[in-house]
Amino acid sequence: MSGLRLLQSLQQIHSSLVLRRITAGLQVCFLTSAAALCQGCIHRPEAVTRSDRTEPTASSTSASLGSQTPTESADVGHAADRKFRIALDIGHTPHAPGAIGADGTKEYDFNQRIVDLLARELNKESNLQIIVINKDGHEISLERRSMLANAANADAFLAIHHDSANDRYLEAVKVDGKVYHQTKRFHGYSVFFSKKNPKFEDSQRFALALAKAMHQAGFTPTLHHAEPIPGENRELVDRELGVYRFDDLVVLKRSNMPSALLECGVIVNPDEERELEQTDRQMKIVQAVKTAILEFAQSAETSHSTPATAPSR
Ligand SMILES: [Zn+2]
Repeated sequence: MSGLRLLQSLQQIHSSLVLRRITAGLQVCFLTSAAALCQGCIHRPEAVTRSDRTEPTASSTSASLGSQTPTESADVGHAADRKFRIALDIGHTPHAPGAIGADGTKEYDFNQRIVDLLARELNKESNLQIIVINKDGHEISLERRSMLANAANADAFLAIHHDSANDRYLEAVKVDGKVYHQTKRFHGYSVFFSKKNPKFEDSQRFALALAKAMHQAGFTPTLHHAEPIPGENRELVDRELGVYRFDDLVVLKRSNMPSALLECGVIVNPDEERELEQTDRQMKIVQAVKTAILEFAQSAETSHSTPATAPSR
């Protein structure tokens, strides 16, 4: 395993260098009380570097998977009657909660709530098996999240997040005597996939299915991640649906199965944050995501059952 150790060392050196650069570039942020804003979502440093928090943890609704570690074989095969396994990754942790909402609510709490509701809904489907990554909120590296999904032999990976905005747009506002940062410029969902994922075509298809379901549920995408400014400038693959390509998102490129990341909405927007705190809105998101997962599972099943001689789709 010396190759793996070498890779890890190189990653640590790279991560250290990246973090030093990031720290240098975020002095304003750290000098204000907005330090927590520096560790949030898709345009935030931690999503494309690695965390060194590595306490192992895996949670699953299936007892047979609950005790597995990434070094153990999940060995579940691909039997014809095998359930479609969807890994749901709760973005961030209680101690490193990601973005901070306009009223101080932590992104992790939003992510955890959606994954909890989604897992309950998906568990009603007999053809699905749900694997919740880091259900108990332990500190965990980004690589470890993917390793757990890989070890569980998941068929698809979905990371759930809630969005912030570029620092240049955030304004300090006092809420109940505390200063938080917010903007009303942006609202809406966005979906990401990575071309570095080994199944990137299926990842893109999964991302499009998610975005289409969100769009059909009446939500609008945010396009602010495509703005040509530092920290954004992401390739907008589908403007109408809000699908972006972001190759170096760790959890998307390190997971072996089709993978996507959903930003459910912009929590630094006080209006959208209030909506996202409502159960109705949460359930509407959950139903849309469920629709997309079922559609993707169905298409995967169809392609597996297609005879080898049939034309590829
Ligand atoms: Zn996030």
